[in-house]
Amino acid sequence: MTTTDVENFPGFPDGISGPALMAQMRRQAARWGAELLPDDAVMVDLDTTPFRVATNMAGEFRAHAVIVATGASAKRLHVVGEERFWSRGISACAICDGAAPIFAGKVLAVVGGGDSACGEAVYLCKYASHVHLLVRGKAMRASRTLQDRVRNHPSVTVNFETTVVEAIGDKRGGDEEKRGDRGSPLKGLRVRRGNGVEEVLEVRGMFYAIGHTPNTSFLRGSSRLRFDERGYMVTNGGGPTTPLDGVFAAGDVADSEWRQAVTAAGSGCMAALAAERYLTARGLTREYHHAEDEGWAPARAAVEERESEAELKAEGRVDDKESYDIEETWHSGQYALRKLYHESKRPLIVKYVSPGCGPCRQLKPMLHAVVRALEGKVHYVEIDITKDPEIAEAAGVTGSPTVQVFFEKSLEKEFKGVRMKSEYRRVVEELLNRVAVR
Ligand code: NDP
Repeated sequence: MTTTDVENFPGFPDGISGPALMAQMRRQAARWGAELLPDDAVMVDLDTTPFRVATNMAGEFRAHAVIVATGASAKRLHVVGEERFWSRGISACAICDGAAPIFAGKVLAVVGGGDSACGEAVYLCKYASHVHLLVRGKAMRASRTLQDRVRNHPSVTVNFETTVVEAIGDKRGGDEEKRGDRGSPLKGLRVRRGNGVEEVLEVRGMFYAIGHTPNTSFLRGSSRLRFDERGYMVTNGGGPTTPLDGVFAAGDVADSEWRQAVTAAGSGCMAALAAERYLTARGLTREYHHAEDEGWAPARAAVEERESEAELKAEGRVDDKESYDIEETWHSGQYALRKLYHESKRPLIVKYVSPGCGPCRQLKPMLHAVVRALEGKVHYVEIDITKDPEIAEAAGVTGSPTVQVFFEKSLEKEFKGVRMKSEYRRVVEELLNRVAVR
C-alpha cells in the first residue's frame, strides 16, 4: 500500500501510515502460518488445474485456488513533453518524489480534484514555496474536509476548469541535460482555462493524482475471467468470486468505486473465506494448528524474510566516524556513502528513500533479500533524502526510491521506482562476475 496516511481504518483513532499498517498485517498473517514471498508473479496459467503461477525468482507454484489482489496503479495524462520530464519534474507520486531537492522551495502543481490530489497538495507545501491544484471541472470531488484543507491553506491555489496541455522545459531536457545544473528541468505547464485561453503556469514540478488503472493486464489471457471497459475484474454480484471457479478477487483490482484500505481489507477477508469454502467443499484444505506456546509461527517465507544479524545491527543507525566500518555490508547516511564511494572494492548499492514513501517500503524486503544473499561481497548504503539533501542533489536523485549501483567510483546502473528483484540482483551479479574474471 502506497497511501501515506490512512485516516479511516477502524482501530486507529489517530490514523496510521499505509506502510506501518502493512507491516502489522504482514506480521499478523505470518503468525497464522501465511508464507510471504516478496517476488513478482510473471505468468499465471488459469487454464490448467491446479492453476500455475510462475514467479520471477521463487519458482513456479501450483494452486487449487488463487486470490487476485494486485491493486491499481496511478494514471498519467501523457501530455506533450511528459516523457522528457518523467521522473525528472513530473511524477505520479508526490509522497515519493516531493521531497527531492529539485523541488525544494519551488512552485509546484498537482493535477486532480479528488482526496489524493488534495492530500498531496497539502503534503507538498512542506517542501514547495507554493502549490497549484489543477482541477479540470468546476468542482472537486474530494471530501469536504480535504477540500477545506486546500482552500484554507495559504500556500495552495485551487485552479478550477484548468487542464494541462504541455510540459515545457529548458534545453536541458533529454540528452542535453548538463549534470552541473541540478534543478528540475521542467520550467512550466501550458494550461487551458475554462474560457479556452491558454497560458503558461510557471511551475518546476507536476504531480498527477488523477486516479488509478487496475493491474490486470497479466490476466487478460484467460478467456474465462471478465473485465469491465477500464480493466477492473468483474466478480459475481460484486462479491469475491469470479466467473472462473477457484479464482477470487480482492481489493482495488475489482473495485473502482470504494477503494479504501478498510474496504479492501474487508473484501480480502471475504475472498479468503470464499477460497476456504471452495477448497473445503473439494476436500483440499489442510489445517494449520497454532500451538499456544509457539509464539510467532516460523513460516517458510519468514526464513527468507529474516534479517541477518549485521542487518539488524545497522537498522536505525546512521554511520559516523566512530561507527563506520568498511568490513560491514550494511550502512546508512552520507558519511558512509562518501567513504565507501572512495574506498569500497565491492559493488556499492545505494538506496535513496524518503519518509512515508510507500514504494520505498515495498522495495525494502526485496532489495534487502538481494543484499543479504550477497553479504560480504557488496556494500549497501541507505540515504534518507530529507536528512541528506545535499548528497541526494549531488547524485542527481529526483525521487524515491532510487537505487544507484556503483563500482570503482563509476555509476553502473540507476533504478527509479520499484523494479523486479531479479533486475537488481542481475546487475550486482554481473559486476561480481567482472571482478571474478580479473
Ligand atoms: P479519484 O478517482 O477519487 O479522483 C480522481 C481525480 O482526478 C478527480 O478529481 C478527476 O476529475 C481527476 N481526473 C481524472 N482523470 C483526469 C484527467 N484526465 N485530467 C484531469 N483530471 C482528471 O481518485 P483519488 O486517487 O483521489 O481517490 C481514489 C480513492 O481513494 C477514493 O475513493 C478516495 O476517497 C480514496 N482516498 C481516500 C483518502 C483518505 O484519506 N480517506 C486519501 C486518498 C484517497 P473529475 O472529478 O472531474 O472526474
